[in-house]
Amino acid sequence: MKTIAVLGATGSIGASALDVIARHPDRFRVGALAAHRNVEALAALCARFAPDLAVIADASLEAELRERLRNARVTTRVASGAQALIEAAKLPECDTVIAAIVGAAGLESTLAAARAGKRLLLANKEAVVMAGLLLRAALDEGGGELLPIDSEHNAVFQCLPARRSGLDDAGVRRIVLTASGGPFRGKTRSDLAAVTPAMACAHPNWTMGRKISVDSATLMNKGLEVIEAHFLFDAPADRIDVVVHPQSIVHSMVEYADGSVLAQLGNPDMRTALAHALAWPERVAAGVAPLDLLRIARLDFEAPDRSTFTCLDLAYRALAAGGNAPIVLNAANEEAVAAFLDGRLAFLAIADVIESTLEKTASTPVGTLAGVLDSDLTARRVAQRIIASAKD
Ligand code: NAD
Ligand code: MG
Repeated sequence: MKTIAVLGATGSIGASALDVIARHPDRFRVGALAAHRNVEALAALCARFAPDLAVIADASLEAELRERLRNARVTTRVASGAQALIEAAKLPECDTVIAAIVGAAGLESTLAAARAGKRLLLANKEAVVMAGLLLRAALDEGGGELLPIDSEHNAVFQCLPARRSGLDDAGVRRIVLTASGGPFRGKTRSDLAAVTPAMACAHPNWTMGRKISVDSATLMNKGLEVIEAHFLFDAPADRIDVVVHPQSIVHSMVEYADGSVLAQLGNPDMRTALAHALAWPERVAAGVAPLDLLRIARLDFEAPDRSTFTCLDLAYRALAAGGNAPIVLNAANEEAVAAFLDGRLAFLAIADVIESTLEKTASTPVGTLAGVLDSDLTARRVAQRIIASAKD
């Protein structure tokens, strides 16, 4: 029996994870659930899964969560605040942690789970982009294992040999990440001038949280994933390629020295990656419909439109620059996407804000968590100023 902490339990990944967990009560139980502000949804999940611990990150809602659980006669222990997220990540009752908080808010709990030697099911790509080297060190220290949940990285993981010491030893030539192209594939810059949050969040193949949906529309999601692949698989940037595949059936590929290309295919449903990582190295049912290749009939591939969707190259540039650049890229993107979703910034200005923030921020090496958090905060301030001036 595996006992699992789901951090980000009320989100899109959280819901998919809990769906898979609920299908296998003989294998999996929930030890901890954590969410930001949605007390009602968190209380309902506690009533359903009876975890040992429930964490509401917004401490002002702790009393309400207690009250709801008392009324429902649920005996789950309650805690709140950022420190409690870390406690949930290290909870002795749990052997597995699903890191599904969105954005930099998930960084410290992700690192804590790694350091505590948990099996880390990693969806929170922003944590890897910000602190890939620290995460690797934390995993070494804890002795646990990381299983990627991002569908592309989960696919690459499945296509790589189980034991490997590096890409060259494994005979790998390159990693090919697939991208759906998002809701605006084929559009020109002038088509995108008046895009609204609702249009940007209407992804053709995947239903996801709002932040990652906007990232998919700008192609920053793929940029973040290139940096994520660099850290997860120790792959240099020039051996990570991106190809647009509108059907989202091939989730990514690994090309070997002998010319073989291994791909992982499946319907676009995050429960496949979650079930894979929860049960690994075994396989369990995920509730995902079997892939019907005859109905899909064709798989298309095309080059990404880098001149319309400039965020992809901004990410490659930040990866090449190293040091604090990926942290600045991520922080500026989080601020710009939040401003766009709030109606304070135009869609096309998201990339401009990120580019200017990178230009206006001094580059520094970063070796500690304090350094990461400091770079993140500094970049957010710079980005906020740029966003405020873009509005006038
Ligand atoms: P979401 O917005 O649906 O859910 C986010 C979750 O994080 C919620 O449970 C929310 O309560 C929690 N959260 C937000 N801010 C928090 C804070 N300050 N403290 C504590 N908890 C906080 O997002 P999602 O789509 O589920 O994405 C989650 C992560 O998984 C992101 O990093 C995303 O890039 C990654 N991911 C998602 C998908 C997908 O299909 N949704 C695919 C690949 C990767
Ligand atoms: Mg992905």
